This record gives sequence, structure tokens and C-alpha cells, in this order.
Amino acid sequence: MADTGAPEGKAPDAEGRRRTLAEQELVNSLGWLVAMRWIVGVGVLLATVVASRVLRLPIPEFALYGVGLFILAYNAGLRWWLGQLGRTLPDSTHACAVFARAQIGLDWLAITVLTALSGGIESPVIIFFLFHISIAALLLPHAHAFLYVALAPALVSLVVSLEYWGVIPHVALFGPPRYDQLTYVGTVLSFFTAACYMLAYFCVAISVRLRRREEEVGGLYEIVRDTTATLDLQTVLSRLVESATRVLDCKGAAIRLLDRERGQVAFVATYGLSEKYLEKVPQDFRRARLDQATMAGEPLFVNDTAEDPRIWNLDRVREEGIQSMLSVPLAGKQGPLGVLRAYGGEGHKFSEEDAAFLETVAAHGAVAIENAQAYRMLEELDREKSRFIRIATHELRSPIGVTESLLTALAGGYVGELAPQHIDVVNRALKRVQALKSLVNDLLDLASAKAQMKHSERRRVSLNGLVAEVCDRLQARAQEKGIALVCDVPAAPVDVMADPTDLDRLVVNLVGNGVKYTEAGAVHVTLSRETDQTRLVVADTGIGIPTECLPNLFQEFYRAKNAKALEEAGTGLGLAIVKDLVERYAGRIDVESREGVGTTFTVTLPLAAEGDLQTQDTAAVAG
Ligand code: ADP
Repeated sequence: MADTGAPEGKAPDAEGRRRTLAEQELVNSLGWLVAMRWIVGVGVLLATVVASRVLRLPIPEFALYGVGLFILAYNAGLRWWLGQLGRTLPDSTHACAVFARAQIGLDWLAITVLTALSGGIESPVIIFFLFHISIAALLLPHAHAFLYVALAPALVSLVVSLEYWGVIPHVALFGPPRYDQLTYVGTVLSFFTAACYMLAYFCVAISVRLRRREEEVGGLYEIVRDTTATLDLQTVLSRLVESATRVLDCKGAAIRLLDRERGQVAFVATYGLSEKYLEKVPQDFRRARLDQATMAGEPLFVNDTAEDPRIWNLDRVREEGIQSMLSVPLAGKQGPLGVLRAYGGEGHKFSEEDAAFLETVAAHGAVAIENAQAYRMLEELDREKSRFIRIATHELRSPIGVTESLLTALAGGYVGELAPQHIDVVNRALKRVQALKSLVNDLLDLASAKAQMKHSERRRVSLNGLVAEVCDRLQARAQEKGIALVCDVPAAPVDVMADPTDLDRLVVNLVGNGVKYTEAGAVHVTLSRETDQTRLVVADTGIGIPTECLPNLFQEFYRAKNAKALEEAGTGLGLAIVKDLVERYAGRIDVESREGVGTTFTVTLPLAAEGDLQTQDTAAVAG
């Protein structure tokens, strides 16, 4: 269909309220009706030509042309109005509803005149009323729809009466006129009225069901959104009971969870129930017979609380105004977790459809509860892990440190002269202890990066100073090996939001590897600033990485063969740590390498935003 200028889309309207499907359809169909009306207007003109010139029917030809032109004229006006509506009030559901009523009103006026001009009660045009009845019943609020339905027979009766009393002339299209035979008129009018009401009733019934489904889908959408948006179980369960109450249009809803150890069922989330009522409901599972029956598996209906012997506190229930209940089990993987119950007020009955909806809500509730339990267990494990790391940090690091200094003192001759063969043994032991120290340090770094044990405090850190400082620190080692370590850092600040210790660890590992795995040539460290990210490139002319090793490079403990041959000391943990850190800061790491030619690591990290906190003195941390 051509662009109608009709406001489209499922966005909330100008009043900030999300449109229902019916309202959305109303908005969408405005343009469609305008497009259809061009055809109707032209159709009236053509039908008049055919009827009067070809079929030679005795019709008021020029009056009918007038009606056709009138339809086209007001449709042009409506088209213009719709254009204005699209421009000025694109999101107002109210404005659209006014427009819809205006066009239905004009159409009915046109159909009524057409009916009068084409035979009144005998006219085939009256069938067109049914078309607008179905539109009104499907799209307008239901009370209005039935009003429109009443209008159709009223308008036809008006035409018939005016003809009967001779106020307007009767157009006899097909043989002898019958508009003055009361039985005929009465029969046609009653059938027409019955058809109008049956059609309206049918359409309203369908639209009620569709609106109900829409509410269910909307409610479920909100539930899914809430269950995934938060890990706070209480919030999730509260939303579940609220949504269930809204969609089922009942008095309230509640979730009761079973505590197997204590043999109790307790409310964990409620909506629409008074505190007084909640206090009086049994906690003891043995007395809660409704809960027992529900947890056996099937949805449980109580249509009249007064007649159900399983309700022992009937006074309270009646006082609360609860006449019906619908309970479904919250089924966990290892058995029932509790029940979800909806409460209906006076005259409220729950249906099978309600039960199906409530079961879906309960399934979400059960998942949320089990997720929360699993999350709590994970948190517990995490705490255990952190505790282990803290102990290991202390218990492993300190004796290794002490052993290293004792061996250094021994090798340096500070505790007495050693024979050369003893010095050799002590130096070998020292090397092993240092390797062990670096393994323990790497392991702890990795564990802390993974567990985020040390909650890294993010702040604005200048990478310029940090990178330059790391290069300075590694300069001595590069000189020892006779290679150049060139650091190229821009003058303009390159700031990122991070924990400076993490950044230091990241840069030291990459530049340290460059120096470690380069025998001749240079290591170039380049920092640059791009639109919204920073790029750190560490390129060396070292031993390179064999192509087949590249896929495993960031795995823990992985070391390429050529690296092992060149440098015995190494843990294979540095790059795993770097990758974890880069990912933690939403960055990216890439590597390019050719064996025997050199390696280039490129890390990109998001830049700190304008409003982020002040730059900290990173030199102190890095040092
Ligand atoms: P380590 O250096 O302790 O072995 P890393 O995790 O830092 O552990 O590095 C893993 C492996 O990646 C190294 O063993 C080496 O094979 C390879 N590698 C890393 N950086 C380089 C580099 N600049 N040049 C050549 N190989 C490298």
C-alpha cells in the first residue's frame, strides 16, 4: 500500500503509555481506510454510470454522482488531516481515536444517503454497514462498539420511516416497491439488526480473547525481562506476583516456598493481600492442605472457598473477600519448591486458560529461585577461593622470599666463603627458587584476575606515564641483552579507566616478553590515541611464534617449543593474565608473528570518557 502518512510503530504514545495491540491496529488502519475509500468513491461513480446508462435502472443518477463526489471530497479532507496528524501528533492515540470516529461517522452518513437513494430497505447498500460494524467492534473500546452497532439499524430505520411517511421519495429499483409493507420492512429490519449484533458480538469476543492474549504476552515479556535484568530474587518474585494479578485481573497473588527442614511453607512474595490475612495463613506444611495438594503436581482450582473443606481458616479468607483460588506448583529440578497462588474476589472464577498462564509464570519463578540458589552457591565457592588465595599468598610467598634472600646471601659470600663448586650449587638452587617465585606470582595474579578477588578500583589512569615507566624499568634488561627498547608515547594524554596495577601487569608482561624473546634487534613500544580507544603496539624482532602455536598462545601454561629452547624460565601464564585483563576492561588483543622474524602484539582499550574521574599519579603505583 502507498505511504498513507499514518503514524506507525509500536512506540509508546505521546502520553507515555504503551499502546495495546488494538490501539496500534487502530492507528495503522487509519491510513488503510483512507486508501480504501478512494476505491469506494470511484466505485459509487462507476456503479451509478453502469446502473443508469447500461442497466437503465430508475435511480436518481445525479444525486448518486453527488454522493460519490462527496465521498471523494471528504476522503481528500481526511487524507490531509491524517498527514497533519502524522506530522504534528505522531504518537497520540487519543488524536487517532478522534480521527477514527470522524471517518466512521462520515462513512455512515454517506452509506445512509446511499441507502436512501438506492431503494431504502430494499437497497443492497445496507450490507456495507456490517463492514464498519466489524471495524468498530475490533478496534474501538467495546462499549463504544455496541453503541455503533445500535446506530446502524437506527439509521436504516430512519430512512425507512422517512420513505414510509413520504418525507423522502422511495427509489424502486427492482419491480414493485415493498417499503410500505410492514411485514416485509419488519422482517428485513429485524434480520439486519440481528446480523449487526451477531457480527459485533463475534468480533468483540475475538477481540476480547486477543486482548487477553496480548496482556498475557505483555505480562510474560515483563516477567522474562525482570528475571534476566536482576539477580535479586525478591524483586523478581514480587514482579511475578504483581504481573500475575494484573494479567488474571484478580484480587491478588502470592508465592509460598517450602522449607523442607522446618516443614513450613512461608510467603516470600505477595500482591494485593492484607498484612492481617498473611499473618493468619498456616505456616505448618502439614496443615496447609491446599499447598500439599498443589505440590502434588496439577493446577488446583477452588471455585468457592466456602465449600472447600481444605480451607481451615475460612473466616479470614471470607473477611479478606477471597472467593476463589487458583494454585500451581513451582516445580524445581529436584521436586516442588512451593506454590504460586492467585486469589479471586467475589464472583471471580479462574479458567483453564488462567491456569496455563499461571503455570508459565510459575516456571519462570522456579527458574529464578533455582538461579538465585545456584548464584548463592557460586558466591560461597568464590569466597572460599578468595580465602584460599589469600592463605596461599601468605603461606607460599613469604617462605619463597625468605629462601631467595638466604640463598642470595649465601651465594654472595655474606655468611662465609664458599668453594666454587658450592657456589655453583647455590646459584642453581637460587635460579630454581626464583622460577618458583615467578610461578607463584603468576598463579596468584591469574587467580586474582579471574576471581577479581582484589576488587580493582577503576580510576582515570594516564597510560602515557605508565607505559614510559614500564619501559624504563625494563631498559636495563634490554641493555644486558644488547637490544634496543624504544618507547614511543604521545604527548597528548591517553587516559583509560582502570586499576593501575592491572595496567602495569598487562604492559610489563607484553614488553617483558618482547625483551625476553628477542636476541638481536629491537623492541618497539608504541602508544597511540584514536577516536574512542587507545592502541598499544609491542613489536619485536625476536624468535617469533610458530604458526601452529598461535591458536594456543593465550592458554594457561602454554609455551611454544622455540621459547622453551631459548629461555628455560617461564610459566606460560603471562599471556593468559594479559588476555583476562584486556577482556575485563572491554578491550581486544591481537597477535601477528613469523618465526625467526618477530612478533607484534596489539592491545586496544576504551578511552576514559570526558566526565570520568581525575588522573591519578600512576608512577607511584607502577614503581
Ligand atoms: P612465558 O613467557 O612465561 O612462557 P607467556 O604466557 O608470557 O609465558 O607466553 C606464552 C608463550 O607465548 C611463550 O612461552 C612464547 O612461546 C610465546 N610468546 C609470548 N610473547 C612472545 C614474543 N614476544 N616472542 C615470541 N614468543 C612469544
